[in-house]
Amino acid sequence: MKIAVFPGSFDPVTVGHIDLIKRALPMFDKIIIAIGVNSQKKSLYTLERRLIWLRRVFENFKNVEIDSFEGLTASYCKKREAGYLLRGLRNGSDFDYEKTISQLNYIIGGEIDTVFLISQPQYSFISSTIVREIIRGKGDVSRFVPPSIFEELSDFN
Ligand code: ADP
Repeated sequence: MKIAVFPGSFDPVTVGHIDLIKRALPMFDKIIIAIGVNSQKKSLYTLERRLIWLRRVFENFKNVEIDSFEGLTASYCKKREAGYLLRGLRNGSDFDYEKTISQLNYIIGGEIDTVFLISQPQYSFISSTIVREIIRGKGDVSRFVPPSIFEELSDFN
């Protein structure tokens, strides 16, 4: 079984994440979208809500599983018997950051390979960080997030 873990904060899930998953599905038998819980990093939305939203968005995707983990991504991959990590690249800054993490994960994860997909141009400026900024500023994020979660985004709990 070719299993990939797609790790991230998904705070909140965006149309960029969804596009990446759709494009990666033909490459793997299963993709586990896993929210990495980091006690140092304060999220806007709770872990529970982020999990609910991901489960809702991907409910009709039979090869997608939603989970969360604490600790090292590489340890989580081993536990889930995943041989691959999936990440998106939007620009050069993503590349510089991801290159180091990918090399590290290959070593500490026992040869886990990271598969990168370059984002489509129409999604390359979308990030959860930007979506959060727009929400805080009471702007319209309807084009950047899935319609099924849109109405719940203005409630921060
Ligand atoms: P992190 O907190 O690790 O940056 P995110 O939840 O922001 O995680 O993103 C998870 C993954 O999704 C990352 O690999 C990121 O590059 C990718 N990603 C996020 N937004 C987009 C997008 N608009 N297009 C393609 N990939 C994206």
